[in-house]
Formats: sequence, structure tokens, C-alpha cells
Amino acid sequence: MKGSLLYATPSVVAVRDVGPHLRRIVLGGGLEGFRSIAPDQQAKLFFARDGGVPRLPGAPADLGEVAGWYARYLAVPEPERPWMRTYTVRRHLPDRAQLEIDFVLHADDPGPASRWAAVARPGDVVGFLGPAVSHWRTAPPGVPKLFAGDETALPAIAAWCEVLDPGERAEVHVEVDGTADELPLESAADVRMHWHHRGGEPAGRSTALVDAVRALPSPSGPLFGWLAGEASAVRALRRHLVGEWGLDKRAVAFAGYWRLHLTQDDAPTAEDAAEAAEIMAELEAQGA
Ligand SMILES: Cc1cc2nc3c(=O)[nH]c(=O)nc-3n(C[C@H](O)[C@H](O)[C@H](O)COP(=O)(O)OP(=O)(O)OC[C@H]3O[C@@H](n4cnc5c(N)ncnc54)[C@H](O)[C@@H]3O)c2cc1C
Repeated sequence: MKGSLLYATPSVVAVRDVGPHLRRIVLGGGLEGFRSIAPDQQAKLFFARDGGVPRLPGAPADLGEVAGWYARYLAVPEPERPWMRTYTVRRHLPDRAQLEIDFVLHADDPGPASRWAAVARPGDVVGFLGPAVSHWRTAPPGVPKLFAGDETALPAIAAWCEVLDPGERAEVHVEVDGTADELPLESAADVRMHWHHRGGEPAGRSTALVDAVRALPSPSGPLFGWLAGEASAVRALRRHLVGEWGLDKRAVAFAGYWRLHLTQDDAPTAEDAAEAAEIMAELEAQGA
């Protein structure tokens, strides 16, 4: 793993809706030490249960100490322990020492993070710990790419498109509710954007994205797949790319960003644990 973790309690600087279900929140304060490590980089955000400043154990000494830090976090009595959720750093603004985070406002069954984002105002404080990579496999330059995900993956996909070089090729498939949720993506590369609409069906129940990818022809040459979104959809997509298209597992980066009917506090399922073990085995094999 690369980079070092920054722990800070920034506050909301600005709030702007970039779509009917996506709210961009700019955070600033204490972020001067933030260093970008990847286009799809994640941070843990912490939300105080009383709406004030989240109280946290001191930051991990380094990335290797994260497990020990997590044990200290869990040891904080539950009524005082801030909620922890994972978000992508959509954009780092180094000149202002600010970060943009795009929150999906999932209103049907909101959790602490989406509830916080729905009412966030300048001055509100959040805990921040990051960055860390969100996908363990990195897209190799020159190889055509397929990005597929739902709107939680859109911040990472947009950041990825922005760093692709001219001459690179990428097909991007994103599932959103409808036309109003589509965002312009900027890229110097040859990026073909395909939007898939749920049309009012709840996120996590629609098969729009999985059906669209399954309907694509098999690639005729090397391809790098990048998948993120609801965990079952990501699994179905990964099975298709590896099982049906025959891509090498190492050519497919995948991450379940959320789980239907489960919060981020809920324990890993057997499938989650199996995937985590697979990733750990791969990292050990790489000597990471
Ligand atoms: C590496 C990584 C990067 C991520 N980046 C982003 C990002 O940039 N922006 C972003 O919005 N999310 C992102 N996510 C997903 C986000 O962490 C989850 O959606 C998280 O569950 C939201 O927390 P919550 O408190 O709102 O809901 P929780 O308390 O975790 O869950 C409450 C309920 O809401 C449901 N739920 C959770 N998320 C959604 C959703 N998107 N749509 C519909 N129902 C949902 C759950 O199934 C559960 O029933 C990322 C996740 C990971 C692992």
C-alpha cells in the first residue's frame, strides 16, 4: 500500500447538488497534509451521533497499524462512537486544501451518511481518515478499459476518466435513476459513455447495468475491467467478465461499495469474507 493516512476534522465549506440524487460537499480545514494516491481513492468519514464534532481515537501510526486503530475505534462505547462510512475523494483542490465528496442521497432507506449529507450546511464538522486506494488492481496504461458501476461509483469513474491519457480507450457503463442523473464526464481519452436507467426501480433491485454489460459482445483482445456499486451486481458483473468473457481475474478490479438491506456497520457476509481473503492472498503474493 502506498501513501500515508491523514486524520482531520474538516468542516463543510460548500454544498451543491450536481444531480437530483447526488450532492457535492466541499470539505476544508486541516486537510493541508492530504496527498492524492490514485483516481479512485477512498476515505473513511465519521459522523457524530449528536451532530457535533466526532470524537475518535488518535489516527493510526501508519497504514500497517489500521487494524489496531480499528480495534480502538470499536472500543469506544457505542453511544459515543461516531458512525463510519466510506466515500471516494471526487476531487482534491490542493491550492485551497479542500476536497470534494459526492454523496448519493438514497432516500428510501437513508443511513447516517446520506442523512447527514441531506441536511449538511457550511460549518458542519465531519471526521476524515484517508486516503487509501479503493481498488487493489490498477488499470494498466494502453489497455482498453471497461468501467461499470452505479451512481456510488460515478465519483471514482469520473476521476478516472479525467486522468486517462489521449489515445486511451474506455467504455463506461453507469446505472442511474434517469436522464436527470446523467453527468458530463471530462476526459482527454476516447471515452464512450453509456447510461442505464432504473426508471424508478429502487437501486440494488434493478438489473439495468448487469443486463447491459451481459448484452455486450465479448472483447476480441485484452481488456481491463473496473467494477463498483451494489455488491451483488458487482459480483454478477465480475462473474460475467471472468466466467463468460474469459478475462484473467487480475484484469478485473472490483469492489462492492454497498450492500442491499445491509448497512456498513453490518458484519461481512460469507461472500464478502471470501472476496476479502482472495484480495489478501493476492496482496501477500505480491509481497505488499
Ligand atoms: C471504496 C468505496 C467508495 C465509495 N464511494 C462513494 C461515493 O463517492 N459516494 C457515495 O454516495 N457512496 C460511496 N460509497 C458507498 C457508501 O459508502 C454506501 O452507500 C454507504 O452505505 C452509505 O452509508 P449510509 O450511512 O448512507 O447508509 P448505511 O447506513 O450504510 O445503509 C443504510 C441502508 O441504505 C442502503 N444503501 C446504502 N447505500 C445505498 C445507495 N447508494 N443506494 C440505495 N441504498 C443504499 C443499505 O442497503 C441499507 O439498507 C463508497 C463505498 C466504498 C466501499
